[in-house]
Formats: sequence, structure tokens, C-alpha cells
Amino acid sequence: MHTFLPYAYLKGSFVEFEKATLSVATHALHYGTAAFGGMRGIPDPQNSRQILLFRADRHAQRLSKSARFLKYDLAPEEILKTLESFVRKNAPTTPFYLRPLVYTSDLGISPRLHNVEKDLLVYGIELGDYLSPEGVSCRISSWYRQEDRSFPLRGKISGGYITSSMAKTEAVESGFDEAIMMNSQGKVCEASGMNIFIVRDGSIVTPGVDQDILEGITRDSVITVARDLGYQVIERPLDKSELLIADEVFLSGTAAKVTPVKQIENYPLPKERPVTEALKKMITSITENREPRYNSWVHPVSLD
Ligand code: PMP
Repeated sequence: MHTFLPYAYLKGSFVEFEKATLSVATHALHYGTAAFGGMRGIPDPQNSRQILLFRADRHAQRLSKSARFLKYDLAPEEILKTLESFVRKNAPTTPFYLRPLVYTSDLGISPRLHNVEKDLLVYGIELGDYLSPEGVSCRISSWYRQEDRSFPLRGKISGGYITSSMAKTEAVESGFDEAIMMNSQGKVCEASGMNIFIVRDGSIVTPGVDQDILEGITRDSVITVARDLGYQVIERPLDKSELLIADEVFLSGTAAKVTPVKQIENYPLPKERPVTEALKKMITSITENREPRYNSWVHPVSLD
């Protein structure tokens, strides 16, 4: 079980976490008509009265766009303001993960998005490593990522996570740590909650945004940082066979940060991972606001 931050934000006010409850008839619970965000924060290592949120503006923008699919008009500025008050109210003292959710709070029973009440809720947990920083083993999932023609892939829509959940459980129940899903074209897509990269002959390759991936904010950070460090980054369709013979494979995500992959199915990957390690180090340093060049990626929230 997680350690929850003491207050949640629900229906416009802060409530003790245990008292932040919803009706059994909540529309989103039945129809998956919700969308979430996930953002990391840490107490500023240089200032004990300040919290640093990583790429908070981008997370707020993505959640606002996800909300548009639900016909919920919620400006990124409003989301950001709520997240800032949430952080001030909870004043976390350890690394944490914020989970904002836009959802249909209505109690009606028909799958629709018009004429249903919506709400924004936020809660948080203390969060260290989500996956083993030493590396994970992956199974190629028998479940394929959804297609944009039947599912709004540019939103982080709750209902869609049944596929990730089935893929992850299938992987874990067959002895692996994580799942890699293909898209409907049979190309490599992403893991259950992370984007994927490989290193091949010195270049970094990752599926492009036209490959049915979630447009990950960590993915965007990794691509920018890698290019700034002088690596060539190619966004293109990726084949399964390229994964198996890659020099390095890693996953990127808010919870997972940069996590190396040590094995895919029955194919172990090389133990030396210079590119993964360099990127992981840089991303960690940026989140701690130790890299002036990326200062704008770190959103400070003063506790005073
Ligand atoms: N893909 C999926 C399916 C995810 O759930 C996530 C986590 N949000 C990611 C990729 C990575 O996105 P981000 O880096 O924005 O956390």
C-alpha cells in the first residue's frame, strides 16, 4: 500500500485523504470516462521551504487536452493553480507523485459525455523507485495498444488502461517485470506506462508520435537532452527484432524515470549501458534543478 499525502482535493476543496470518497454510482467508475495525469515532485535539495515539480506546465497542458475529450473545459492555468495549492497544503517532505484526475462525477447511468457533471480531483503518494533502477525484464505482450480510430490516444484516458493492466499482469504472471506492447501495425509501441527507446550503433531510436504511443513528457525530455548531449535521435517505426539485438533498451516515464531493460523475452541485453546511464544521470540532475540550462523545466512552489 502507498503512503498517501494527508490531503486530497475533491469537488473544489481539500479534504483529509481518508474522507475523500465518492459515490458508488460515479459515472467515471463505470464507464472509464476519466483522464489522469501523473507528475513527480521533490523537496528542493537547495531550499527546504520549496518544492520542485518536474515539467508541471506540460503535465497541466496534457491534462487539459485530455479533459477536452471528456468535453470538460479546464484551462492548464487552472490545473496548475490547483496543483500548486495542493502542494502547499500537503507540504511533502519526501519525493512524491501527484495524481490529478478529471472525471465524470455524475450519478447517471448512460455512457455519454454531454450533460454529465465533471470534476477535478487530486491526490498524492510518496514515491521512490517505481521500477528497479538496476533494470527490468520485459515480455512482449499478447495485447496490442489501441488504435486512434477507436480510442483517443492523445489523451491519458482512464478506460484505456485496461489494456496496460492486462499486459502488465500477463508479464508479471509469466515471470517478467514489465510488458512491451506492439501497435496494431505490429510495430513496437510502448510499455504499460512508459515509452521505449533503443540504442543501435550509437543512435537512439524511439517510435514516433504517429505510432500510437502516449506522447510522454519524459520521452520529450529524454529526446531533448539526448540531442543536447550530441546523440542522434531518430523517431521512426521500430521492429521487434531490433529490440532483441539492440545495444541498449530503456523505458521512460514519470514514475519509471529512465529505467534500463536488461532482458526481453529470452534475449538478455548487454550489461554495459553507457547511453542509458548518461541520460538517466542527466534527467535526475535536471529534476533536482542542478542544470541551469533546463531550469525552466522545474516548477518551484514556495511553501511560505
Ligand atoms: N505511456 C503510457 C501508456 C503511460 O501511461 C505513460 C505514463 N504517463 C507514459 C507512456 C509516459 O509518459 P510520461 O513520461 O508523460 O509520464
